[in-house]
Amino acid sequence: MEFNFSKEQLSFREEVKAFIKEAKEQNTYTFMDNGFCEVLSQEFSKKMSKKKWIGLSWPKEFGGKGKGYIDKVIMIEEMLKVGAPLGYHYVADRQVGPGLIHFGSEYLRNKFLPPILNAENTWCLLFSEPGAGSDMANCKTNAIDKGDHFLVNGQKVWNTNAHVSDYGWALVKTNHDPKTYKYNAFSEMIIDMKSPGITVRPIYNTLGIHSFNEVFLDDVKVPKENIVGKMDNGFRQIMTNLDYERSGIDRLLQNASVHIALMDYIKTTEQNGQPLSKDPLIRDQIAQLEIEYEVGRLYVYYVSYLLDSGKIPSSETAVGKTFCTTYESKLVDMTMSIMGMPGLLRNGSPEALYDGSVGQSYLWSVPYTVQAGSVEVLKNIIAQRGLKMALK
Ligand SMILES: Cc1cc2nc3c(=O)[nH]c(=O)nc-3n(C[C@H](O)[C@H](O)[C@H](O)COP(=O)(O)OP(=O)(O)OC[C@H]3O[C@@H](n4cnc5c(N)ncnc54)[C@H](O)[C@@H]3O)c2cc1C
Repeated sequence: MEFNFSKEQLSFREEVKAFIKEAKEQNTYTFMDNGFCEVLSQEFSKKMSKKKWIGLSWPKEFGGKGKGYIDKVIMIEEMLKVGAPLGYHYVADRQVGPGLIHFGSEYLRNKFLPPILNAENTWCLLFSEPGAGSDMANCKTNAIDKGDHFLVNGQKVWNTNAHVSDYGWALVKTNHDPKTYKYNAFSEMIIDMKSPGITVRPIYNTLGIHSFNEVFLDDVKVPKENIVGKMDNGFRQIMTNLDYERSGIDRLLQNASVHIALMDYIKTTEQNGQPLSKDPLIRDQIAQLEIEYEVGRLYVYYVSYLLDSGKIPSSETAVGKTFCTTYESKLVDMTMSIMGMPGLLRNGSPEALYDGSVGQSYLWSVPYTVQAGSVEVLKNIIAQRGLKMALK
């Protein structure tokens, strides 16, 4: 066994680093923590598209580059370490494309895959509802069959970037027979966000930033051909989709800059005549953090290895997301406890540390262990699917 990256993978990592260096030197893009979902730059996405780095791990027959998931993790790892602005294409590349490749009709693949690959449109996910987050089978948004189209009514919530998206990937109820087993009542469909009847309202997060929304659907007409995969099979399809959302290195590196700031802070800040980095208690905490980071990183590569071997991870993605997002929360918690109150100050305040970026990341971090499946629910998945501890 050779426990290392191949020569090609090492050289690909260098290529990605050079690409980032050049993009940073251009000084026209915003690099920040969470840039992969919060900063939408079509120009940056087009730059990546030219290199065929959107769809990097999609099969060649669907216009992708046909590389492995390990290559994809290498690329995303380098991008997220510097907070690259991937938000314009991220959801479509990670979930929509693979969802269409697995389940979509030829019509949908032909219509939607090329513009995703060319960074010509941006997407949002319309899954959660006020009464259906963890328990998505409680979804109430109704799609009624009207012959050549569906009439959709309902409300979605927490929809990241819905206010700037061209299309939404939605879970809707299509089987209205009350006797139907609840997991057989839903379908996935693509909704044009410019359709009449759609109202998108902002929700401001703890930072006062508008990134997610409520989406109201009132008599929205959706063509029949926009159903993805089999009718009433949406719940099962979405579980596969969610595994893509949960398995990436984006669940480890959402606040990568905090680690850099923390290391700098402990080396440059003195207490009792010596740098904090010489304090045994701090050294112990930092070493523990490093162990957890390395384990999380290794686990993400392990999951991509499973995908490259043709295996379908399931409880493994739950293990990875739980472990990695718990690390991210611990990183900011520990940083805040070491930096104290100045760490919380926002940009513009004279005492703010690292331009207020640490305090900003601290507030961003609150939902890390909730979005895309909360750790409590993921632990249930690990127990049931992984350890076969199903409840009777
Ligand atoms: C930053 C962010 C971005 C998001 N973006 C999107 C998006 O783009 N599109 C979209 O559709 N959704 C999005 N979401 C919604 C996200 O998927 C849901 O918040 C998540 O699934 C949890 O659902 P909920 O908020 O309804 O909480 P609930 O399901 O109500 O859970 C509340 C609490 O109860 C616990 N809980 C629930 N059920 C169980 C159980 N069976 N066992 C143990 N504990 C349980 C949970 O762990 C949690 O702590 C986003 C959320 C966040 C925070």
